[in-house]
Amino acid sequence: NESKGKLPRYPGLERWHLIEKMGDGAFSNVYRARDLDGTAGEVAIKVVRKFEMNSQQRANILKEVQIMRQLDHPNIVKLVDFSESRQYYYIILELAPGGELFHQIVRLTYFSEDLSRHVITQVADALEYLHETCGVVHRDIKLENLLFSPIPVIPTKHPKPKAPEDEDKVDEGEFIKGVGAGGIGKIKIADFGLSKVVWDNQTMTPCGTVGYTAPEIVKDERYSKSVDMWALGCVLYTLLCGFPPFYDESIQVLTEKVARGQYTFLSPWWDDISKPAQDLVSHLLTVDPAKRYTIKQFLAHPWIKGTEEPTYAAL
Ligand code: ADP
Ligand code: MG
Repeated sequence: NESKGKLPRYPGLERWHLIEKMGDGAFSNVYRARDLDGTAGEVAIKVVRKFEMNSQQRANILKEVQIMRQLDHPNIVKLVDFSESRQYYYIILELAPGGELFHQIVRLTYFSEDLSRHVITQVADALEYLHETCGVVHRDIKLENLLFSPIPVIPTKHPKPKAPEDEDKVDEGEFIKGVGAGGIGKIKIADFGLSKVVWDNQTMTPCGTVGYTAPEIVKDERYSKSVDMWALGCVLYTLLCGFPPFYDESIQVLTEKVARGQYTFLSPWWDDISKPAQDLVSHLLTVDPAKRYTIKQFLAHPWIKGTEEPTYAAL
């Protein structure tokens, strides 16, 4: 565990005191850090190893920063600052101290429908902002890139005393109906490393600028927002049952399953999950991108709009 060990010192990062390592990727380490003069509080710093990257990869980092600069939404990690040294890029980010949604699913096995709705609605609000307001496609929506802020408190019905080794486990069936006052905290979308500004679906104009775009670009990008909607479907499916819609040990078989949209609401895990929830998932995991739900359709779906009260109240 590197967080316990000595943390590296980076040239040009003297303003920040690194506290612990929070995550890593192919070319980067992410640290929790504190402003030494105490004005900015705690942040996350993504230190990218520039020296290991080719010029295309470096350009992608600059694009990631450029896109993040324009974003301002409560469910999107904010860019605080950006700087670089000869060997590194430093992306200073708003800290999401609660860690990855991925870890909460691993910890809890799966989420109740209310909890799932509480989480996915926040992701969808951010996607609506990205797609409709900014013309940005994220292209890497997944449990590892959805972060909690602050550390989530998952409400349980009967908190039972637990053996020390089970301290961080929550038994299934312990969930209360609803998500409790204040829910379980905010979800923030992180990692704009694959994100892209795209052409608007309706007007076929680029977001922000006007240009002379070739037909093949317009055609290519017509459905690009729908990749986020597919991913949103994968996240929602996984939240509800605890395993992903598509899986196979062989990459080749997995690719084939995805291409065909071959997934099932596997029994017994899906037996008690409501029909409206299944209906919504199926409108996202639709192979034809023209038929797949847009973010607007997603937000208008009865399962999303339904209150946190049981739906039988409306019948
Ligand atoms: P990569 O492109 O390598 O996946 P990410 O931006 O996703 O890089 O960061 C890697 C990991 O670091 C994330 O999955 C998350 O665990 C952690 N992380 C990233 N940004 C933050 C943040 N703002 N607050 C807390 N943790 C973060
Ligand atoms: Mg990531």
